[in-house]
Amino acid sequence: MTGRNEPGARRSEGLLEVQNLVKRYPVRAGAFTGRKGGWVEAVSDVSFTVSKGKTLSLVGESGCGKSTTARCVLRLVEPSSGTILFHPDVSGEVEETSPIDITDAGDEELRQLRKNMQIVFQDPFASLNPRMTVGSIIAEPLTVYGIGSKRHRRERVAELLELVGLNTADAKRYPRQFSGGQRQRVGIARALVLNPSLLLLDEPVSALDVSVQAQVLNLLMDLQDSLDLTYLFIAHDLSVVRHVSSEVAVMYLGKLVERAPTSTLFNHALHPYTHALLASVPIPDPEVATTQKRIILEGELPSPSSPPSGCRFRTRCAYAQAPGVCADLEPELREVEPGHWVACHFPTEFEPRSRTPVNFPTG
Ligand code: SF4
Repeated sequence: MTGRNEPGARRSEGLLEVQNLVKRYPVRAGAFTGRKGGWVEAVSDVSFTVSKGKTLSLVGESGCGKSTTARCVLRLVEPSSGTILFHPDVSGEVEETSPIDITDAGDEELRQLRKNMQIVFQDPFASLNPRMTVGSIIAEPLTVYGIGSKRHRRERVAELLELVGLNTADAKRYPRQFSGGQRQRVGIARALVLNPSLLLLDEPVSALDVSVQAQVLNLLMDLQDSLDLTYLFIAHDLSVVRHVSSEVAVMYLGKLVERAPTSTLFNHALHPYTHALLASVPIPDPEVATTQKRIILEGELPSPSSPPSGCRFRTRCAYAQAPGVCADLEPELREVEPGHWVACHFPTEFEPRSRTPVNFPTG
C-alpha cells in the first residue's frame, strides 16, 4: 500500500465540520458504593473538519471517546452541545448551498441526511442479521427509503457485490456462510447502497485477521478513489490508519491532544501520548525492532468521571512538570505549524530512529 493524498492532490473543501462537540452522560449516585451522582464527559470540546474525498482518522485507546464522537455525527447518540455541519453539495471547487446543521436537524431532515452518511461497524457478524440473505441485507436501506422497483434493487445489489469483490450469486447466501473479511465486504456494500458521500468507519478491520485487514483497507481506498468518498475512520491502532489517512487526530480521555497531516504525525509527533502510540506500532524487522527505545505507558486510563486536573495525560506522562504547570493548567490545542495542532505545555519531537525525545522549540 502507498501513502495517500501526498502534496499535489486536488483542492478539497470541508464536507463535515465538528465544532466544540461535547457529550456528557449522567452518573447515578451509588447507594452502596457511596459514589456521588454527576456527569461523565465522554467527548470534551472536540473540533475537526473532514475534507471532501479525504480521510480523517480518530485514534486512541478504548474509552477515549472516538466512537462516541462518530455516533454523535450520525446522531445515533445525542450531542450535549456543539455544532456538527454537513456540506452536502461541496464540489471540491465551490460550496453550492449552505451547510446543514446536523445537531439541529428534525427527524425527517435527519432521515434524509442519513442517506448521505452511513456507518460501517467493527463486528461484521454482529451487524448483519443472520436470518436475512446477503441480498436482502444490502437492499434493506433501499426498501426502507422506498427507492426503486424490486428489479432495480436486485440489479443494485449485484452491482455492489461486484464492486466489493464478491460474486453476484452471493446474494442468495447467509452471513454465516462467509468469512469475517467477506462479511465486512457485505457491510461495506450495505453502507454504499444509498450512494452516500461520507462513511463513518468504526474500527472496520479490528475484528479481522491481519492478513485480511490489508485487503479490506485496500478495498476501502479503491472505493474512495472511484466513488469520491469521504471517510471518518475510527481506530485504536496507528499502524492501521497510516496508509489510509490524509490526516490523523489523536484523542485521550475525551479530548483531542494532537492533529496533523499523516506524514507529519508519523515523522514529527509532538505529544507524549502520540509518542507512546507510535512506539507501540510493531516493527517488522526484528533487528531494527531491538534497537528501538520502548515507551511504556504506566497505569490505566483514568476514569472520565474524574479526569486529572490540568493536563488529562499528566498521570501517565514521562515529561509532566512540577505543580504549577501540567497539574494546574489545562493545555490548549494550539497550531504549532500549519495544520499541526498539539495540546501540550512541553511539546517534544519524536525522533523515529532512536525514538529518543528531543527538545522542540515551542517559539
Ligand atoms: Fe505531559 Fe505536561 Fe504535556 Fe501534559 S502538558 S502531555 S503532562 S508534558
